[in-house]
Amino acid sequence: MNTCFKCGKESNREVVLDVHGRLHALTLCDECYKKYEPKVTRKGIEWREIKRFRFSYSVLFIESSKLGELISKASANIDWIASKMSVLGIILSILSTAFMIYGIVDRLVRYNLITIHLLKHRVGLMIPGIDPILPLIEGLIALLLAMIIHEFMHGVVSTYYGIPPSSAGVALFLGFLPFMAYVKHPGLHRDPWKNVKIAGAGIVGNAILALISLALFLLNAPGIY
Ligand SMILES: [Zn+2]
Ligand SMILES: [Zn+2]
Repeated sequence: MNTCFKCGKESNREVVLDVHGRLHALTLCDECYKKYEPKVTRKGIEWREIKRFRFSYSVLFIESSKLGELISKASANIDWIASKMSVLGIILSILSTAFMIYGIVDRLVRYNLITIHLLKHRVGLMIPGIDPILPLIEGLIALLLAMIIHEFMHGVVSTYYGIPPSSAGVALFLGFLPFMAYVKHPGLHRDPWKNVKIAGAGIVGNAILALISLALFLLNAPGIY
């Protein structure tokens, strides 16, 4: 047993930090794990107390360690399969980035009457409320759902590898416009490949949501198929 460097309680929870390219391991107890977050500065590591509400750069951050716990608990039955699928997420993120770049280049190269017409009507901009195929309210709900599932999957796989989220939250622009959800981890995993898998898990959540949405759409679109 080691002791928590913050309060001295006995604990086996190790937090691994990247301090200017070098891995640095510390012991934290379960309570301090949820209470503090590290900030690596030039002088070293500063530990700050996590605040439930924080307002900076016109963004309101609301987060809670309870929400982080809830994600860890909910991960119990799907964590294994999620960790296996997260490799797929890495491939998917590369492919989807390539596809997006292709889409942009294709629009620039094939600038014809159709693209001019679509752009005039702002089709394909993918901004809720501006793109006519993405209405404001529906678009924001879809974005929020996509972000929640994305972050949830990061939390599921990180819990599987022994570094559960210490907290989770949302960021609201100007205090009311949701634009980001997040899970927080004070440290990394010692094994870099596992960090890659934790990163890949998010997009797997998006792919699953996309498939479910597509199935629901096809089921509810009589006459097309
Ligand atoms: Zn402690
Ligand atoms: Zn992510």
